[in-house]
Amino acid sequence: MPEIGQIKEYTLFQFFFCRVAASSNKLPQYGGVINDLVAEVTIDSRNVEHIYETVKKLSDLKINSSVNFIDIAKSPYYDFSNVTDKSLLVHRSTELKNQLDRIVQDGLDVHMAKTLFPLIWKILPSNLDCGIENDIHNLCIDSDDAVRLCLRIRGVGTPSMKVDDLIDSNGNLDLGIKKFYEADKKAYCMGCNHTCMIMSKLLVEDENLIGEQHHSDKRRNE
Ligand code: SF4
Repeated sequence: MPEIGQIKEYTLFQFFFCRVAASSNKLPQYGGVINDLVAEVTIDSRNVEHIYETVKKLSDLKINSSVNFIDIAKSPYYDFSNVTDKSLLVHRSTELKNQLDRIVQDGLDVHMAKTLFPLIWKILPSNLDCGIENDIHNLCIDSDDAVRLCLRIRGVGTPSMKVDDLIDSNGNLDLGIKKFYEADKKAYCMGCNHTCMIMSKLLVEDENLIGEQHHSDKRRNE
């Protein structure tokens, strides 16, 4: 871990048990010191009742929260995770809706809460169809330079394209990859709740949302 003074931008926290972590005595020393400090807050069925309380604490500490909901590996092709326990998924409930509404109403420092929460709500517990095969609004590149179907699934045909083959020197995308997306999506996708896919789709539809996508520190400095 670098010294605090050396850190300019840093995504520091991955919380699965976010309530416990947010209660940590170490957090206050980072808020307001590190620029654009973001807590990745992952909600599951065991901590769902504490969302509001957790992001309120983080906001008070000047820490931005990126809220997402746990997803599971629905088949062996979902290689992003080894979590398969369906009971961890978060379902829609009045209590959850009340918490999300309060976060927006109280203006807590949560990444794109007003825009994303209604869309995340629609796909809970894990029912997103990202439509990537119809409109390539998001590119996921694996550690070996191969294109993945998405963050959740590597795919079988899609990785035959390397990122260097896919984008030419003018930045144009080789649409030959579309057939691999279509085939892999049809064969292996069983839905998910990947929030970044919602965001990339939104940005394609409305470029003005790019500013909103920045975290609060960046927005303040623009
Ligand atoms: S699992 Fe992948 S392909 Fe399927 S909906 Fe989610 S992001 Fe899209």
